Amino acid sequence: MKPAWTARILTILPEIFPGPLGASLIGKALEQGVWTLDVMDIRDFAKDKHRSVDDTPAGGGPGMVMRADVIGPALDTAAAKMPDTPMVYLSPRGAPLTQEKAHALSAGPGVTLLCGRFEGLDQRVLEARDIEEISIGDFVLAGGEVAACALVEACVRLLPDVLGDAESLVSESFEQGLLEYPQYTRPREWEGRKIPDILLSGDHKKIAEWRHAQAEETTRERRPDLWDRQKKS
Ligand code: SAH
Repeated sequence: MKPAWTARILTILPEIFPGPLGASLIGKALEQGVWTLDVMDIRDFAKDKHRSVDDTPAGGGPGMVMRADVIGPALDTAAAKMPDTPMVYLSPRGAPLTQEKAHALSAGPGVTLLCGRFEGLDQRVLEARDIEEISIGDFVLAGGEVAACALVEACVRLLPDVLGDAESLVSESFEQGLLEYPQYTRPREWEGRKIPDILLSGDHKKIAEWRHAQAEETTRERRPDLWDRQKKS
């Protein structure tokens, strides 16, 4: 049997996990062994009795920087456990996370995720090891842990048998290069607002056309960048 997809997370705050990754369908899949979570405490690789992992920035300036001689061995231990698995440093300086990236990672054996804290990581580690930098958006978090949860959740829900209805993946935002069409459910009327008639017509062809048109319009309005890319492809 193929080993389960594995998320290996390097952090100084192991108590954060599984956190949201232990809930609902993602958590059930974890319990059932569809994927596995291995959390490694970076402090176990510290060299002093205070278990320190950071030091002041070379050249001065505010905050602290994670030490290369602590992070390096932590990454090497993770890599030895699972060779040929991509290593990712969550970082606001990284390439933006996309649905395409989530698909690519979920199709592989898993991912090793390095969560930064403080001002981030000594640049030499990033140069010396084969590490990809990924950002979850143009804003700054206090640490990489929440970003790691977001990335793992995006990957795990794409694994076979995790979602109840695999169909629901097909029309989702980004899957066709478009944002999703709007969704409605009962009651038929709420605060004077009705569900669009077409959705109650039973005409599946018309419904599909309406949804596609809505998806296009929303994408054009809200995300001209996505819309331009969609037109080009
Ligand atoms: N001084 C850094 C920010 C450090 S924030 C800078 O200006 O670029 C501390 C840690 O939080 C980072 O090392 C990174 O692991 C994580 N982090 C912060 N924002 C993030 C984002 N948008 N995406 C992914 N990780 C992020």
